[in-house]
Amino acid sequence: MRTNEQHKIETPHEKQNRHKAMEAIKVINILKDEFKNPMESMEYFYTLFDDVYCRQKSLHEGKTKIGTMCIQIPSEIIYALDGVPIRLCNGFYTDDEIGSDLMPQKACPLVKATVGHFASDNFSDKPDIIFSPTTCDQKTKAGAVIEGFGYKVVDVDYPRVKESEASREYWRRSVKQFAVDLSKFQNKKLSRSSLKSAVQKIGYAQSLYHKLCEYRKLEHVPINGTHMFMVTGAFFFDRIDSWTEAVEKLLDECEQRKKQNIGVVAKVSPRIVYTGSPPIFPNYKIPTLIEQSDAVIVADETCSSNRMFNDMVAVDEWNLYDMIDSISDKYLKACTCPIFTKNDDRIRRIIDLVKNYKADAVVYQAFAGCTVYELEQRSVLEAMEKEGIPILYLESDYSPSQGGQLSTRVEAFMESIKMKKKKKEKIV
Ligand code: SF4
Ligand code: SF4
Repeated sequence: MRTNEQHKIETPHEKQNRHKAMEAIKVINILKDEFKNPMESMEYFYTLFDDVYCRQKSLHEGKTKIGTMCIQIPSEIIYALDGVPIRLCNGFYTDDEIGSDLMPQKACPLVKATVGHFASDNFSDKPDIIFSPTTCDQKTKAGAVIEGFGYKVVDVDYPRVKESEASREYWRRSVKQFAVDLSKFQNKKLSRSSLKSAVQKIGYAQSLYHKLCEYRKLEHVPINGTHMFMVTGAFFFDRIDSWTEAVEKLLDECEQRKKQNIGVVAKVSPRIVYTGSPPIFPNYKIPTLIEQSDAVIVADETCSSNRMFNDMVAVDEWNLYDMIDSISDKYLKACTCPIFTKNDDRIRRIIDLVKNYKADAVVYQAFAGCTVYELEQRSVLEAMEKEGIPILYLESDYSPSQGGQLSTRVEAFMESIKMKKKKKEKIV
């Protein structure tokens, strides 16, 4: 007998939710089942992503959710003012398609998907207010589109020159203004003790990330880079204490693997540093292709992972103003996003990562429509060439149809690196 439920016609909203759940579960299953020696403690993250993206389960009921459009909005100040930061950068193709009706077709998929998410309105934790730093042009313009959906969006002035003292001062003022705006919104005063404890809390999470990365330097790399993107991606929205607890368990498992020499790939497998437009769940297309081609991502220079955790807030004096200045410096000086006029720091960081993680090559992804990553590829490619570091440049988007062409290029590149490694080993 057919129930009423079976007769029910799906609304467009339900259809979008179903498509997103399908995208999410497909990637979770790949991560769970299609890699060699997957880590048991990743189970926490599979369940978390399933809860949030397939069941729209709220993690922060009763808390004020502060939406951030980019990594430059200081989470330390949000926590200190009793809010929860929710990073809104989005990796869903379903949302990208929805966003294509609201933004130019040729816009960056990350930005279109972020806007599309607001149109489909299927948040597990809906932001109460959004702070949007004026980073790349597309992010800057997306704020106004999102405002059209009835959200309060506050622009936060971000400089595009990194080196000058004037920029530093400009950004410090912006961060102070952000603290004032949020303090008013929360009707709460920013105190020295709450800010100090937030700096320490985030510092602790960063220290765990660094410890995890130490294990990736081993010859037997205990964790896949695609899994690492999931771990760092969870930091966009998870409860910070649950996240740190889950990463502590990953660390214990890495230690066990180190003792038993268990790795996720063979010794000859290419070790890759990943850079460029950020892989954001569930758009792990390129990292997955790399690691399905018998390579392993040992480090990355992206804003969905390394850039979020790399640099700590360096505080000299634990008074309110010094802390705010130190926090501001971390979010400007340490940022290696290509939105800046000059960006030698990014090149330096990639080279350092290659050396420190004994990587064999670099893969550089640029989203179609992202001018800044496309523009910066030339200088990065030249610098890698000078250093003798092989690099593969790929342009990609969120569409599932691109897989075949990309996988041929990735496989051929990894094969050439493997050959080089084998030759080198024979010579030695
Ligand atoms: S790529 Fe740059 S502008 Fe875009 S989200 Fe990342 S840090 Fe922000
Ligand atoms: S990938 Fe490019 S266009 Fe997209 S958010 Fe990052 S910098 Fe902006």
